[in-house]
Amino acid sequence: MADCLFCKIIDGQIPTVKKVHDDALCIGFLDINPQAPTHILFVPKRHIATLNDCTTEDRELMGHLIFAAAKVAREKGVGETGYRTVMNCNRDAGQTVFHIHLHLLAGRPLTWPPG
Ligand code: AMP
Ligand code: ZN
Repeated sequence: MADCLFCKIIDGQIPTVKKVHDDALCIGFLDINPQAPTHILFVPKRHIATLNDCTTEDRELMGHLIFAAAKVAREKGVGETGYRTVMNCNRDAGQTVFHIHLHLLAGRPLTWPPG
């Protein structure tokens, strides 16, 4: 999608992004404004604006994002200490980029419930 920040990152148009994962279905890169010592975004290569726009055809893709995040969490050494995966949807959850992405947060104790 022409005007989408994350589509541009996937196309390589924003080379400053620090990529930590790349496969056929998604990429993972460091969040520009990290909320924890480890803060990585997992983004499907196909543009989907919000979780509301996912269909049953995206089941495998959504599971894939979670497995990619768990794999990178283990590689980063936070598998045992723990981590959080979260996907924000629309205004009340604070979604700011309208191309779905799974946050991986780790490296400090994460409070619950979230703010
Ligand atoms: P959300 O608020 O759930 O939509 O998350 C969007 C995330 O994208 C935020 O955590 C931002 O810090 C992050 N972000 C925005 N622009 C960039 C960028 N150019 N590179 C990396 N992360 C970004
Ligand atoms: Zn996009």
